[in-house]
Amino acid sequence: MNTKVEQAVGSERIYLFDSTLRDGEQTPGARLNYDEKVEVARQLARLGADIIEAGFPVSSPGETNAVRSIAREIKGPTICALARALQGDIDIAWDAIKDAEKPRLHVFLGASDIHMKAKLKKEPHQILEQGVEAVKYARRFTDNIEYSPEDATRASEEFLYELIEAVIKAGASVINIPDTVGYAVPEEFGAMIRRLKENVPGLDKAMLSVHCHNDLGLAVANSLEAIKNGARQVECNINGIGERAGNASLEEIAVALRIRQNYFSYYTNLNFSEIYRTSRLVSKLTGIAVPSSKAVVGLNAFSHSSGIHQDGILKNRETYEIIDADLIGGSAAQMCLTARSGRHAVLDQLNKLGFSLNNQQLEIIYNHFVSLADKKKEVYPEDLEALVLDHLSATEPRYRLDYLQTVSGSKSVPAAVIRLIKQDESIIEEVAVGSGPIDAAYNAINKITGLNIGLEKYMINAVTQGRDALGEVQVNMSYQDRTITGRGSSTDIIEASVKAYLNGLNKLLKVNGNS
Ligand SMILES: [Zn+2]
Repeated sequence: MNTKVEQAVGSERIYLFDSTLRDGEQTPGARLNYDEKVEVARQLARLGADIIEAGFPVSSPGETNAVRSIAREIKGPTICALARALQGDIDIAWDAIKDAEKPRLHVFLGASDIHMKAKLKKEPHQILEQGVEAVKYARRFTDNIEYSPEDATRASEEFLYELIEAVIKAGASVINIPDTVGYAVPEEFGAMIRRLKENVPGLDKAMLSVHCHNDLGLAVANSLEAIKNGARQVECNINGIGERAGNASLEEIAVALRIRQNYFSYYTNLNFSEIYRTSRLVSKLTGIAVPSSKAVVGLNAFSHSSGIHQDGILKNRETYEIIDADLIGGSAAQMCLTARSGRHAVLDQLNKLGFSLNNQQLEIIYNHFVSLADKKKEVYPEDLEALVLDHLSATEPRYRLDYLQTVSGSKSVPAAVIRLIKQDESIIEEVAVGSGPIDAAYNAINKITGLNIGLEKYMINAVTQGRDALGEVQVNMSYQDRTITGRGSSTDIIEASVKAYLNGLNKLLKVNGNS
């Protein structure tokens, strides 16, 4: 279904800059591996994000590789990489995105007094020079350059005028105003955007952008107010994830502009019917659950519990519902697969879910599907999705599960026997006790690896309804200074728990370069 909006005559286009893979990935515990990043980027392209900020390449070689693959593979959106206003950062960022169809360099440098003095230990005139030099340097590679004076909402406005004018003269084509700490309130922020437009020579030729954080719960409201006052690009993330309280939520901004087009005369090029799928994918891969009452994509956004409301909805949906679930692809056909479904039906369902797997991956998923369909009569799209996500995040595992047995009961000491296969195909078995069977199993794994892994959070969910539902476990684990999310699913919750722990362990070992 094509749900692109028919825009009213005279309405202006708003560009959606998605930073789920950069700012979103800075959410504690949300680290994505290489395959997961590329998968999210593919889905963002299907969604119709105008610009994808693929990452901050200087942060690690793994990040550079992921950004490079996204730049090479993803066609359509502009692919952007973040860099500090330093030549070394810009070199690495450019190297990662240079093969993109439409590459953009995004340079940032603190601009508020507290950032300049406390963090950068520099005078305003030095910051201005550094910003101008960085933009000039970036211009050697591309003319698509975005400049962000970090912490702009707490900066001196006179200084911003001077700085922005200078970086535009140096060649910046997009000026982004970040509310880095989520300090702004809508009316004040809108007025600031308007004053910038009025007072900065040359800004009318650049694209004006905003980047709002949600510390006061105002990120979406601030973004909308900025649009009304002249911003034409908004930086936002799927499900509103991001540093601290998160960033403005992409789906909330786009749907607000769409549903209230009688008020906002702006449109986006988003494929609205991909919103729900994108939200689910990001939530699953990052391990950050969408709150049930979250606007637009929350589980309860389209459910009605009050009798009066239910009655109204049945008579006319619009009595109590302003967004049709169909708009965001929330009620797409839920076709069940069974043990009798062939490869073709599974492939078809995978395509509908938005996964593009190669033959080898398809074969692996199909085999998992067959064994799941044996245990469970009906395999829902969510089950299939869970299988693919398990597989996607399990690239080159250091440890694989070979055998698991646990004992528990009201009168026995919980114990577990675990046998793991290492990458070199050697087999190690351990026995441990614990406060419950899952704790015992985790203790046995720790004995095998000899690592001191911390378990920060454990969550279990039924993927679908019914007694034979697939259980999906997410664990937040820490090792040294890193936190990571592991995920596993099975019809047996102890097995799902062990798979999640191993998934996280393999990610931790990969990130730490121990493997
Ligand atoms: Zn940010």
